[in-house]
Amino acid sequence: MVKEIVDGLENGAGLSKDALAALLLCGDMEEIAYLKAHARQAADRVFGKDIYIRGLIEFTNYCKNDCYYCGIRCGNEKAQRYRLTRKQILECCRQGYALGFRTFVLQGGEDAYFTEKRVCAIVYDIKSKFADCAVTLSIGEKSRRTYQAYFDAGADRYLLRHETANSAHYAKLHPSQMRLENRKRCLYDLKEIGYQAGAGFMVGSPFQTVDTIYEDLRFLGELGPHMVGIGPFIPHRDTPFAYAQAGTLEMTLRLLSIIRLLHPRVLLPATTALGTIHPAGRELGVQAGANVVMPNLSPPQVRKQYQLYDNKRCMGDEAAEHKQELAKRMADIGYRLVVSRGDYGKE
Ligand code: SF4
Repeated sequence: MVKEIVDGLENGAGLSKDALAALLLCGDMEEIAYLKAHARQAADRVFGKDIYIRGLIEFTNYCKNDCYYCGIRCGNEKAQRYRLTRKQILECCRQGYALGFRTFVLQGGEDAYFTEKRVCAIVYDIKSKFADCAVTLSIGEKSRRTYQAYFDAGADRYLLRHETANSAHYAKLHPSQMRLENRKRCLYDLKEIGYQAGAGFMVGSPFQTVDTIYEDLRFLGELGPHMVGIGPFIPHRDTPFAYAQAGTLEMTLRLLSIIRLLHPRVLLPATTALGTIHPAGRELGVQAGANVVMPNLSPPQVRKQYQLYDNKRCMGDEAAEHKQELAKRMADIGYRLVVSRGDYGKE
């Protein structure tokens, strides 16, 4: 059964809801090994043995939103807030450049301090000083005009996880002022403007079902993103979902493989959350079809404060300064970290 579905995916036959359920619920690990191996082969055909690295700079943990799953939501009074200065952000890039990073991901909450003008100035500075690098922004929902301004300042890519493509599910994860339609509008705007755009979702988020995952995959099919970020849901102690069950490694790996087979050229990270729930999560993610890793380039003193979920790994090989360890771990499974912008897999 799994073999037939995987062969169909490879031939572009798509995926029915029943087939998705069969892949997610299958208890036969030999059959699932076939899924993962074929997803990896699909990635190899586009990217070879190259694994792209991104330097993640978490530059503010202030956020105006109150997403129920997030440790830096505005309602969490226990979060210790910080912002990096423009100078500190540039220093992170300088260090990252010396370490061989050619993409910087500026990630933060929706922080009013970082106005359109301030973000544009930072992007412009980075692109002026590190002309051969790509800048990715991941700072939430903005107007089309603002996205255009960031793009004109030099931003290349934008990550905005849609989290769930089902409105009722979205409403269970977010307060009522946040709307799935707006999130989708943002993603379509980003694509139209010319960004390499990334969507994605948590695996195992509260109230998620096979049906909602199927809607997520349908939405990804409609949007055609250049990047897809998925990682296991991990609860944070100071959120309404503190006691919810975490997503699993296995479900995340299967979905990485399914997404790789549906979108062979997409940039697919083995996320920090995957590395957090399992010590070999990143390697397993790559072996299931991922082709991107994003070590942390933020100043070490603030890394623990950017806690979207509990026990986030941000030291050791998750830290940019330990890139050699990460490179060795990738080499041990037959892959190499490359010094390159690492763009979307062209045909
Ligand atoms: S998930 Fe993003 S938008 Fe929501 S509270 Fe956290 S940082 Fe803010």
